[in-house]
Amino acid sequence: MKYPEIENFIDGKFTLSKSKKLDVICPLNGEVISNVPLSTITDLDKAVTAAKTAFPLWSGLTSKKRAEVLFSYRAILKKNLNELAEIIHYENGKNISDATAEVEKSIELTEFACSVPQIISGDIMKVSEGVTCRTEYTPLGVVSSITPFNFPNMVPHWTVPNAIALGNCMILKPSEVVPITSNRIAEMLKEAGLPDGVFNVVNGDKEIVEAICDHPDIKAISFVGSTDVAKIVYKRSTSNLKRSLTLGSAKNHLIVLPDANPDLSAADITASFTGTAGQRCMAASVLIAVGKTDHILEKIIINSRKIKPGLNLGPIISKEAREKIINYINEAESTGATILLDGRKAEIDSSADKAGFYLGPTILDYTNAKTPVPLEEVFGPVMEITRVDTLNEALKIQKRSHYGNAASVFTQNGGIAEEVARKVNVGMVGINIGVPVPREPFSFGGCNESKFGVGDITGKSSIEFWTQLKKITGKWSKQEKQDWMS
Ligand code: NAD
Repeated sequence: MKYPEIENFIDGKFTLSKSKKLDVICPLNGEVISNVPLSTITDLDKAVTAAKTAFPLWSGLTSKKRAEVLFSYRAILKKNLNELAEIIHYENGKNISDATAEVEKSIELTEFACSVPQIISGDIMKVSEGVTCRTEYTPLGVVSSITPFNFPNMVPHWTVPNAIALGNCMILKPSEVVPITSNRIAEMLKEAGLPDGVFNVVNGDKEIVEAICDHPDIKAISFVGSTDVAKIVYKRSTSNLKRSLTLGSAKNHLIVLPDANPDLSAADITASFTGTAGQRCMAASVLIAVGKTDHILEKIIINSRKIKPGLNLGPIISKEAREKIINYINEAESTGATILLDGRKAEIDSSADKAGFYLGPTILDYTNAKTPVPLEEVFGPVMEITRVDTLNEALKIQKRSHYGNAASVFTQNGGIAEEVARKVNVGMVGINIGVPVPREPFSFGGCNESKFGVGDITGKSSIEFWTQLKKITGKWSKQEKQDWMS
Protein backbone atom coordinates (compact mmCIF):
# COMPACT_ATOMS: atom_id res chain seq x y z
CA MET A 1 0.00 0.00 0.00
CA LYS A 2 1.29 3.48 -0.96
CA TYR A 3 -0.23 6.83 -0.05
CA PRO A 4 0.22 10.17 -1.85
CA GLU A 5 2.88 12.48 -0.48
CA ILE A 6 1.62 14.34 2.57
CA GLU A 7 0.79 18.02 2.28
CA ASN A 8 -0.19 20.43 5.02
CA PHE A 9 -3.89 21.31 5.28
CA ILE A 10 -4.23 25.06 5.53
CA ASP A 11 -7.34 27.21 5.06
CA GLY A 12 -9.37 24.29 3.73
CA LYS A 13 -6.80 23.27 1.08
CA PHE A 14 -3.93 20.83 0.83
CA THR A 15 -0.82 22.97 0.54
CA LEU A 16 2.62 21.83 -0.55
CA SER A 17 5.41 22.81 1.83
CA LYS A 18 8.81 23.74 0.41
CA SER A 19 10.54 22.19 3.41
CA LYS A 20 12.54 18.96 3.39
CA LYS A 21 10.71 15.63 3.55
CA LEU A 22 10.86 12.56 5.73
CA ASP A 23 9.92 9.03 4.64
CA VAL A 24 6.85 7.46 6.23
CA ILE A 25 7.68 3.81 6.88
CA CYS A 26 5.13 1.03 7.23
CA PRO A 27 6.02 -1.07 10.33
CA LEU A 28 4.32 -4.12 8.77
CA ASN A 29 7.07 -4.48 6.14
CA GLY A 30 9.62 -1.65 6.52
CA GLU A 31 8.60 -0.11 3.18
CA VAL A 32 8.27 3.61 2.44
CA ILE A 33 4.55 4.34 2.00
CA SER A 34 4.60 8.13 1.76
CA ASN A 35 6.64 11.14 2.77
CA VAL A 36 5.88 14.00 5.10
CA PRO A 37 7.08 17.62 5.09
CA LEU A 38 9.12 18.89 8.01
CA SER A 39 7.34 22.22 7.93
CA THR A 40 8.93 25.53 8.82
CA ILE A 41 7.73 28.64 10.59
CA THR A 42 6.55 30.02 7.21
CA ASP A 43 4.07 27.13 6.90
CA LEU A 44 2.95 27.64 10.50
CA ASP A 45 2.43 31.36 9.94
CA LYS A 46 0.11 30.60 7.01
CA ALA A 47 -1.92 28.20 9.14
CA VAL A 48 -2.15 30.65 12.03
CA THR A 49 -3.27 33.45 9.68
CA ALA A 50 -5.98 31.18 8.25
CA ALA A 51 -7.13 30.18 11.74
CA LYS A 52 -7.15 33.80 12.96
CA THR A 53 -9.19 34.85 9.93
CA ALA A 54 -11.73 32.04 10.47
CA PHE A 55 -12.09 32.68 14.20
CA PRO A 56 -14.57 35.63 14.30
CA LEU A 57 -17.14 33.85 12.13
CA TRP A 58 -16.74 30.42 13.74
CA SER A 59 -16.71 31.65 17.34
CA GLY A 60 -19.67 33.92 16.55
CA LEU A 61 -21.93 30.97 15.68
CA THR A 62 -24.12 29.49 18.39
CA SER A 63 -22.70 26.34 19.96
CA LYS A 64 -25.66 24.42 18.52
CA LYS A 65 -24.75 25.51 14.98
CA ARG A 66 -21.14 24.42 15.57
CA ALA A 67 -22.33 21.09 16.96
CA GLU A 68 -24.31 20.48 13.75
CA VAL A 69 -20.98 20.17 11.91
CA LEU A 70 -19.82 17.60 14.45
CA PHE A 71 -23.05 15.58 14.13
CA SER A 72 -22.36 15.34 10.37
CA TYR A 73 -18.72 14.57 11.03
CA ARG A 74 -19.66 11.70 13.36
CA ALA A 75 -21.78 10.16 10.60
CA ILE A 76 -18.85 10.50 8.16
CA LEU A 77 -16.50 8.83 10.66
CA LYS A 78 -18.93 5.91 10.98
CA LYS A 79 -19.34 5.59 7.22
CA ASN A 80 -15.55 5.49 6.73
CA LEU A 81 -14.70 3.35 9.77
CA ASN A 82 -13.14 0.49 7.78
CA GLU A 83 -11.05 2.77 5.58
CA LEU A 84 -9.83 4.73 8.63
CA ALA A 85 -8.90 1.51 10.44
CA GLU A 86 -6.96 0.42 7.36
CA ILE A 87 -4.96 3.67 7.29
CA ILE A 88 -4.06 3.19 10.97
CA HIS A 89 -3.06 -0.41 10.22
CA TYR A 90 -0.64 0.64 7.48
CA GLU A 91 0.90 3.70 9.08
CA ASN A 92 1.05 2.50 12.70
CA GLY A 93 1.06 -1.29 12.21
CA LYS A 94 -1.59 -2.15 14.82
CA ASN A 95 -3.87 -4.97 13.77
CA ILE A 96 -7.24 -4.24 12.23
CA SER A 97 -9.26 -5.08 15.36
CA ASP A 98 -7.19 -2.66 17.50
CA ALA A 99 -7.41 -0.05 14.71
CA THR A 100 -11.19 -0.47 14.48
CA ALA A 101 -11.53 -0.06 18.25
CA GLU A 102 -9.46 3.12 17.96
CA VAL A 103 -11.84 4.66 15.41
CA GLU A 104 -14.85 3.59 17.51
CA LYS A 105 -13.35 5.51 20.42
CA SER A 106 -12.91 8.54 18.13
CA ILE A 107 -16.62 8.32 17.34
CA GLU A 108 -17.43 8.30 21.05
CA LEU A 109 -15.19 11.33 21.59
CA THR A 110 -16.96 13.15 18.76
CA GLU A 111 -20.33 12.33 20.37
CA PHE A 112 -19.14 14.09 23.51
CA ALA A 113 -18.26 17.17 21.44
CA CYS A 114 -21.77 17.05 19.91
CA SER A 115 -23.14 17.33 23.46
CA VAL A 116 -21.09 20.45 24.28
CA PRO A 117 -24.08 22.81 23.86
CA GLN A 118 -25.91 20.86 26.59
CA ILE A 119 -22.98 21.19 28.98
CA ILE A 120 -21.87 24.80 28.57
CA SER A 121 -25.10 26.52 29.44
CA GLY A 122 -23.31 28.37 32.28
CA ASP A 123 -24.71 29.57 35.60
CA ILE A 124 -26.96 32.49 36.41
CA MET A 125 -27.98 33.87 39.79
CA LYS A 126 -29.66 36.92 41.19
CA VAL A 127 -26.90 38.14 43.53
CA SER A 128 -28.72 41.19 44.94
CA GLU A 129 -31.88 43.13 44.17
CA GLY A 130 -31.88 43.88 40.43
CA VAL A 131 -28.39 42.41 39.92
CA THR A 132 -27.56 39.10 38.24
CA CYS A 133 -24.27 37.32 37.70
CA ARG A 134 -23.86 34.84 34.90
CA THR A 135 -21.06 32.85 33.34
CA GLU A 136 -20.23 32.07 29.72
CA TYR A 137 -17.57 29.76 28.31
CA THR A 138 -15.83 31.81 25.63
CA PRO A 139 -13.33 30.33 23.16
CA LEU A 140 -9.63 31.23 23.36
CA GLY A 141 -8.83 31.81 19.66
CA VAL A 142 -6.15 29.84 17.79
CA VAL A 143 -5.09 26.71 19.68
CA SER A 144 -2.86 23.75 18.89
CA SER A 145 -2.71 20.01 19.52
CA ILE A 146 0.52 18.00 19.20
CA THR A 147 0.07 14.23 19.04
CA PRO A 148 2.10 10.97 19.29
CA PHE A 149 2.46 7.95 16.99
CA ASN A 150 0.57 5.32 18.97
CA PHE A 151 -3.03 6.48 18.36
CA PRO A 152 -3.00 8.37 15.03
CA ASN A 153 -6.80 8.66 15.01
CA MET A 154 -7.91 8.65 18.66
CA VAL A 155 -5.48 11.14 20.22
CA PRO A 156 -6.36 13.92 17.71
CA HIS A 157 -9.99 13.19 18.66
CA TRP A 158 -9.16 13.79 22.33
CA THR A 159 -8.65 17.43 21.46
CA VAL A 160 -9.92 18.50 18.02
CA PRO A 161 -13.72 17.95 18.33
CA ASN A 162 -14.01 19.59 21.77
CA ALA A 163 -11.72 22.51 20.92
CA ILE A 164 -13.63 23.39 17.76
CA ALA A 165 -17.08 22.68 19.23
CA LEU A 166 -16.19 25.31 21.84
CA GLY A 167 -15.47 27.86 19.10
CA ASN A 168 -11.68 27.70 18.79
CA CYS A 169 -9.68 27.33 15.56
CA MET A 170 -7.20 24.48 15.67
CA ILE A 171 -3.74 23.70 14.34
CA LEU A 172 -2.97 19.98 14.62
CA LYS A 173 0.65 18.81 14.53
CA PRO A 174 0.48 15.02 14.13
CA SER A 175 3.38 12.68 14.78
CA GLU A 176 5.64 12.74 11.70
CA VAL A 177 5.73 8.94 12.00
CA VAL A 178 1.97 8.58 11.31
CA PRO A 179 0.79 11.65 9.37
CA ILE A 180 -1.68 10.01 6.96
CA THR A 181 -4.71 9.77 9.26
CA SER A 182 -4.71 13.49 10.09
CA ASN A 183 -5.20 14.50 6.47
CA ARG A 184 -8.22 12.18 6.24
CA ILE A 185 -9.58 13.86 9.40
CA ALA A 186 -9.15 17.22 7.63
CA GLU A 187 -10.98 16.00 4.52
CA MET A 188 -13.84 14.58 6.57
CA LEU A 189 -14.25 17.73 8.67
CA LYS A 190 -14.44 19.75 5.45
CA GLU A 191 -17.02 17.31 4.04
CA ALA A 192 -19.01 17.78 7.28
CA GLY A 193 -19.24 21.51 6.55
CA LEU A 194 -16.47 22.93 8.75
CA PRO A 195 -15.56 26.39 7.41
CA ASP A 196 -12.07 26.79 5.91
CA GLY A 197 -9.38 27.78 8.40
CA VAL A 198 -11.10 26.36 11.49
CA PHE A 199 -9.01 23.17 11.30
CA ASN A 200 -5.48 23.10 9.90
CA VAL A 201 -2.77 20.44 9.87
CA VAL A 202 0.89 21.43 9.93
CA ASN A 203 3.29 18.48 9.73
CA GLY A 204 6.81 18.28 11.06
CA ASP A 205 9.00 17.40 13.99
CA LYS A 206 10.85 19.18 16.81
CA GLU A 207 11.37 22.42 14.87
CA ILE A 208 7.68 22.98 14.20
CA VAL A 209 6.72 22.02 17.76
CA GLU A 210 9.12 24.68 19.05
CA ALA A 211 7.63 27.21 16.62
CA ILE A 212 4.13 26.37 17.92
CA CYS A 213 5.32 26.88 21.52
CA ASP A 214 6.77 30.27 20.55
CA HIS A 215 4.03 31.58 18.24
CA PRO A 216 2.49 34.72 19.77
CA ASP A 217 -0.96 34.10 18.23
CA ILE A 218 -1.42 30.54 19.56
CA LYS A 219 -3.22 30.78 22.88
CA ALA A 220 -3.25 27.19 24.18
CA ILE A 221 -1.30 24.01 23.49
CA SER A 222 -2.11 20.41 24.30
CA PHE A 223 0.57 17.78 23.87
CA VAL A 224 0.59 13.99 24.15
CA GLY A 225 3.84 12.03 23.91
CA SER A 226 6.87 11.04 25.96
CA THR A 227 7.60 12.66 29.32
CA ASP A 228 10.92 14.13 28.18
CA VAL A 229 9.22 16.06 25.38
CA ALA A 230 6.12 16.81 27.50
CA LYS A 231 8.39 18.64 29.95
CA ILE A 232 10.10 20.62 27.16
CA VAL A 233 6.77 21.63 25.58
CA TYR A 234 5.22 22.52 28.94
CA LYS A 235 8.17 24.68 29.99
CA ARG A 236 8.54 26.40 26.62
CA SER A 237 4.83 27.12 26.08
CA THR A 238 4.15 28.32 29.62
CA SER A 239 7.28 30.49 29.61
CA ASN A 240 5.65 32.11 26.56
CA LEU A 241 2.60 32.64 28.79
CA LYS A 242 0.39 30.11 27.00
CA ARG A 243 -2.10 27.74 28.53
CA SER A 244 -0.57 24.28 28.35
CA LEU A 245 -1.51 20.69 29.14
CA THR A 246 1.09 18.05 28.29
CA LEU A 247 0.65 14.32 28.78
CA GLY A 248 3.69 12.08 29.09
CA SER A 249 4.87 8.49 29.46
CA ALA A 250 3.64 5.81 31.85
CA LYS A 251 4.51 2.67 33.75
CA ASN A 252 1.27 1.07 34.91
CA HIS A 253 1.07 -1.41 37.79
CA LEU A 254 -1.48 -4.21 38.07
CA ILE A 255 -1.98 -5.68 41.56
CA VAL A 256 -3.32 -9.26 41.52
CA LEU A 257 -4.77 -10.88 44.63
CA PRO A 258 -5.19 -14.67 45.09
CA ASP A 259 -9.02 -14.39 45.09
CA ALA A 260 -9.15 -12.74 41.63
CA ASN A 261 -11.25 -14.52 39.01
CA PRO A 262 -8.52 -16.61 37.32
CA ASP A 263 -9.92 -16.77 33.77
CA LEU A 264 -11.26 -13.22 33.50
CA SER A 265 -8.22 -11.66 35.16
CA ALA A 266 -5.75 -13.62 33.03
CA ALA A 267 -7.61 -12.70 29.82
CA ASP A 268 -7.73 -9.02 30.76
CA ILE A 269 -4.11 -8.80 31.86
CA THR A 270 -2.86 -10.57 28.72
CA ALA A 271 -4.88 -8.21 26.50
CA SER A 272 -3.62 -5.23 28.48
CA PHE A 273 0.11 -5.85 27.95
CA THR A 274 -0.11 -7.19 24.38
CA GLY A 275 -2.84 -4.95 22.86
CA THR A 276 -1.43 -2.54 20.23
CA ALA A 277 1.87 -4.38 20.86
CA GLY A 278 2.13 -2.76 24.29
CA GLN A 279 2.49 0.67 22.72
CA ARG A 280 -0.24 2.23 24.87
CA CYS A 281 0.19 4.63 27.72
CA MET A 282 -2.48 2.57 29.55
CA ALA A 283 -0.88 -0.84 28.95
CA ALA A 284 -0.06 -3.21 31.80
CA SER A 285 3.61 -2.90 32.56
CA VAL A 286 4.32 -4.34 36.01
CA LEU A 287 2.29 -7.19 37.50
CA ILE A 288 2.51 -7.25 41.30
CA ALA A 289 1.45 -10.72 42.42
CA VAL A 290 0.32 -10.72 46.07
CA GLY A 291 0.54 -14.09 47.83
CA LYS A 292 -0.41 -17.35 46.11
CA THR A 293 -1.31 -16.28 42.60
CA ASP A 294 0.61 -18.83 40.49
CA HIS A 295 -2.68 -20.30 39.19
CA ILE A 296 -3.44 -16.91 37.58
CA LEU A 297 0.12 -16.31 36.33
CA GLU A 298 0.11 -19.71 34.61
CA LYS A 299 -3.07 -18.79 32.74
CA ILE A 300 -1.53 -15.48 31.63
CA ILE A 301 1.44 -17.36 30.19
CA ILE A 302 -0.83 -19.86 28.42
CA ASN A 303 -2.91 -16.98 26.94
CA SER A 304 0.20 -15.07 25.89
CA ARG A 305 1.62 -18.06 24.02
CA LYS A 306 -1.45 -17.84 21.75
CA ILE A 307 -0.55 -14.27 20.76
CA LYS A 308 1.49 -14.56 17.63
CA PRO A 309 3.37 -11.74 15.89
CA GLY A 310 1.85 -11.04 12.49
CA LEU A 311 -1.35 -12.93 13.34
CA ASN A 312 -2.95 -11.30 16.37
CA LEU A 313 -0.05 -9.04 17.40
CA GLY A 314 1.07 -6.05 15.34
CA PRO A 315 4.68 -4.86 14.97
CA ILE A 316 6.61 -2.26 16.94
CA ILE A 317 6.53 1.19 15.33
CA SER A 318 10.15 1.20 14.07
CA LYS A 319 13.27 -0.89 13.80
CA GLU A 320 15.00 1.39 16.34
CA ALA A 321 12.14 1.12 18.86
CA ARG A 322 12.21 -2.68 18.49
CA GLU A 323 15.99 -2.70 19.09
CA LYS A 324 15.52 -0.58 22.20
CA ILE A 325 12.99 -3.05 23.64
CA ILE A 326 15.22 -6.02 22.83
CA ASN A 327 18.13 -4.31 24.62
CA TYR A 328 15.85 -3.80 27.59
CA ILE A 329 15.03 -7.54 27.68
CA ASN A 330 18.75 -8.41 27.31
CA GLU A 331 19.52 -6.14 30.25
CA ALA A 332 16.76 -7.75 32.37
CA GLU A 333 18.21 -11.17 31.60
CA SER A 334 21.70 -10.07 32.59
CA THR A 335 20.44 -8.80 35.96
CA GLY A 336 18.91 -12.18 36.75
CA ALA A 337 15.27 -11.74 35.72
CA THR A 338 13.72 -15.05 34.67
CA ILE A 339 12.31 -14.97 31.16
CA LEU A 340 8.97 -16.79 31.42
CA LEU A 341 8.09 -16.00 27.82
CA ASP A 342 10.68 -14.75 25.33
CA GLY A 343 9.34 -12.51 22.56
CA ARG A 344 12.78 -12.27 20.96
CA LYS A 345 12.42 -15.89 19.90
CA ALA A 346 8.78 -15.70 18.80
CA GLU A 347 8.00 -17.02 15.35
CA ILE A 348 6.37 -14.56 12.94
CA ASP A 349 3.15 -15.89 11.43
CA SER A 350 3.49 -17.10 7.84
CA SER A 351 0.79 -14.62 6.73
CA ALA A 352 2.98 -11.64 7.74
CA ASP A 353 5.99 -10.03 6.09
CA LYS A 354 9.19 -11.12 7.86
CA ALA A 355 10.61 -7.61 7.32
CA GLY A 356 8.00 -6.17 9.71
CA PHE A 357 9.28 -4.92 13.08
CA TYR A 358 7.76 -7.76 15.08
CA LEU A 359 8.45 -8.80 18.64
CA GLY A 360 6.51 -11.47 20.56
CA PRO A 361 4.94 -11.09 24.01
CA THR A 362 7.58 -11.19 26.72
CA ILE A 363 7.11 -11.92 30.43
CA LEU A 364 9.99 -11.18 32.81
CA ASP A 365 9.93 -12.45 36.38
CA TYR A 366 11.98 -10.24 38.71
CA THR A 367 11.38 -12.34 41.85
CA ASN A 368 14.99 -13.58 42.02
CA ALA A 369 16.64 -10.76 40.06
CA LYS A 370 19.53 -8.73 41.50
CA THR A 371 17.60 -5.49 40.90
CA PRO A 372 13.99 -4.44 41.40
CA VAL A 373 11.80 -3.87 38.31
CA PRO A 374 13.29 -0.85 36.48
CA LEU A 375 11.35 2.40 36.67
CA GLU A 376 11.50 3.35 32.99
CA GLU A 377 8.73 2.89 30.42
CA VAL A 378 9.32 -0.02 27.98
CA PHE A 379 6.53 0.67 25.42
CA GLY A 380 6.36 -2.80 23.92
CA PRO A 381 4.60 -6.14 24.60
CA VAL A 382 6.62 -6.74 27.75
CA MET A 383 5.28 -7.41 31.25
CA GLU A 384 7.40 -7.55 34.37
CA ILE A 385 6.32 -9.64 37.34
CA THR A 386 7.27 -9.05 40.92
CA ARG A 387 5.97 -11.04 43.91
CA VAL A 388 5.12 -9.80 47.41
CA ASP A 389 3.39 -11.21 50.49
CA THR A 390 1.13 -8.29 51.41
CA LEU A 391 -0.98 -5.59 49.84
CA ASN A 392 1.05 -2.92 51.64
CA GLU A 393 4.23 -4.11 49.93
CA ALA A 394 2.40 -4.01 46.59
CA LEU A 395 1.28 -0.43 47.19
CA LYS A 396 4.83 0.54 48.13
CA ILE A 397 6.11 -0.78 44.79
CA GLN A 398 3.45 1.13 42.87
CA LYS A 399 4.41 4.33 44.68
CA ARG A 400 8.07 4.03 43.60
CA SER A 401 6.93 5.05 40.12
CA HIS A 402 7.53 8.65 39.11
CA TYR A 403 4.74 8.27 36.54
CA GLY A 404 1.04 8.30 37.42
CA ASN A 405 -1.19 7.29 34.54
CA ALA A 406 -3.00 4.13 35.64
CA ALA A 407 -3.03 1.24 38.12
CA SER A 408 -5.40 -1.72 38.43
CA VAL A 409 -6.38 -4.24 41.05
CA PHE A 410 -7.76 -7.73 40.43
CA THR A 411 -9.77 -9.15 43.33
CA GLN A 412 -13.28 -10.28 44.26
CA ASN A 413 -13.07 -8.35 47.53
CA GLY A 414 -14.77 -4.96 47.28
CA GLY A 415 -13.07 -3.60 50.41
CA ILE A 416 -9.59 -4.37 49.09
CA ALA A 417 -10.46 -2.96 45.66
CA GLU A 418 -11.63 0.31 47.22
CA GLU A 419 -8.53 0.50 49.42
CA VAL A 420 -6.27 0.11 46.38
CA ALA A 421 -8.29 2.68 44.42
CA ARG A 422 -7.79 5.16 47.29
CA LYS A 423 -4.10 4.50 47.87
CA VAL A 424 -2.49 4.15 44.44
CA ASN A 425 -0.79 7.30 43.21
CA VAL A 426 -2.28 7.58 39.71
CA GLY A 427 -4.93 9.48 37.77
CA MET A 428 -6.89 6.45 36.51
CA VAL A 429 -7.71 3.26 38.43
CA GLY A 430 -9.03 -0.08 37.18
CA ILE A 431 -10.92 -2.60 39.29
CA ASN A 432 -10.77 -5.94 37.44
CA ILE A 433 -9.95 -3.95 34.28
CA GLY A 434 -6.50 -3.99 32.69
CA VAL A 435 -6.84 -0.86 30.55
CA PRO A 436 -8.90 1.53 32.68
CA VAL A 437 -9.50 4.23 30.07
CA PRO A 438 -12.46 6.28 31.34
CA ARG A 439 -15.38 6.35 28.90
CA GLU A 440 -16.91 9.68 27.92
CA PRO A 441 -18.00 11.93 29.63
CA PHE A 442 -15.35 11.03 32.24
CA SER A 443 -12.09 12.72 31.51
CA PHE A 444 -8.72 11.15 30.67
CA GLY A 445 -5.56 12.10 32.48
CA GLY A 446 -2.85 10.86 34.81
CA CYS A 447 -0.69 12.67 37.35
CA ASN A 448 2.95 13.03 38.44
CA GLU A 449 5.30 12.78 35.40
CA SER A 450 2.47 11.46 33.22
CA LYS A 451 0.84 14.88 33.05
CA PHE A 452 1.91 18.51 33.39
CA GLY A 453 -0.72 21.20 33.77
CA VAL A 454 -4.12 21.45 35.41
CA GLY A 455 -7.20 19.44 34.43
CA ASP A 456 -7.62 16.58 32.00
CA ILE A 457 -7.51 16.34 28.23
CA THR A 458 -10.99 14.93 27.47
CA GLY A 459 -14.51 15.02 28.89
CA LYS A 460 -15.93 17.80 31.01
CA SER A 461 -12.48 18.77 32.28
CA SER A 462 -11.34 19.70 28.76
CA ILE A 463 -14.06 22.35 28.55
CA GLU A 464 -12.19 24.44 31.13
CA PHE A 465 -8.96 24.01 29.16
CA TRP A 466 -10.30 25.16 25.79
CA THR A 467 -12.30 28.14 27.10
CA GLN A 468 -12.15 31.25 29.19
CA LEU A 469 -14.92 31.57 31.76
CA LYS A 470 -16.43 35.02 31.39
CA LYS A 471 -18.33 36.40 34.39
CA ILE A 472 -21.00 38.96 33.52
CA THR A 473 -22.67 41.02 36.23
CA GLY A 474 -25.67 43.10 35.14
CA LYS A 475 -27.86 45.66 36.90
CA TRP A 476 -31.13 46.40 35.20
CA SER A 477 -33.04 48.01 38.03
CA LYS A 478 -35.54 50.63 36.93
CA GLN A 479 -34.46 54.24 37.60
CA GLU A 480 -36.83 56.45 39.57
CA LYS A 481 -39.34 58.23 37.29
CA GLN A 482 -38.18 56.12 34.36
CA ASP A 483 -40.90 54.70 32.20
CA TRP A 484 -40.61 52.38 29.27
CA MET A 485 -40.24 55.08 26.60
CA SER A 486 -37.96 57.52 28.50
P1 NAD B 1 7.29 11.64 21.30
O1 NAD B 1 7.43 12.41 22.55
O2 NAD B 1 8.53 11.16 20.63
O3 NAD B 1 6.52 12.52 20.18
C1 NAD B 1 5.31 13.18 20.47
C2 NAD B 1 5.24 14.46 19.64
O4 NAD B 1 6.32 15.32 20.00
C3 NAD B 1 5.37 14.20 18.14
O5 NAD B 1 4.41 14.98 17.47
C4 NAD B 1 6.80 14.62 17.80
O6 NAD B 1 6.92 15.17 16.52
C5 NAD B 1 7.11 15.68 18.85
N1 NAD B 1 8.51 15.69 19.28
C6 NAD B 1 9.37 14.64 19.36
N2 NAD B 1 10.56 15.04 19.86
C7 NAD B 1 10.46 16.36 20.10
C8 NAD B 1 11.35 17.34 20.66
N3 NAD B 1 12.58 17.03 21.03
N4 NAD B 1 10.90 18.61 20.78
C9 NAD B 1 9.65 18.94 20.42
N5 NAD B 1 8.77 18.06 19.89
C10 NAD B 1 9.15 16.78 19.74
O7 NAD B 1 6.28 10.44 21.61
P2 NAD B 1 5.89 9.22 20.67
O8 NAD B 1 7.06 8.30 20.58
O9 NAD B 1 5.26 9.71 19.43
O10 NAD B 1 4.73 8.53 21.55
C11 NAD B 1 4.98 7.58 22.55
C12 NAD B 1 4.98 8.21 23.92
O11 NAD B 1 3.76 8.91 24.14
C13 NAD B 1 5.06 7.17 25.03
O12 NAD B 1 5.95 7.63 26.02
C14 NAD B 1 3.64 7.11 25.58
O13 NAD B 1 3.54 6.70 26.93
C15 NAD B 1 3.21 8.53 25.40
N6 NAD B 1 1.76 8.65 25.37
C16 NAD B 1 1.16 9.14 26.47
C17 NAD B 1 -0.21 9.24 26.52
C18 NAD B 1 -0.89 9.76 27.75
O14 NAD B 1 -2.09 9.89 27.73
N7 NAD B 1 -0.18 10.06 28.82
C19 NAD B 1 -0.98 8.83 25.42
C20 NAD B 1 -0.33 8.34 24.29
C21 NAD B 1 1.06 8.25 24.28
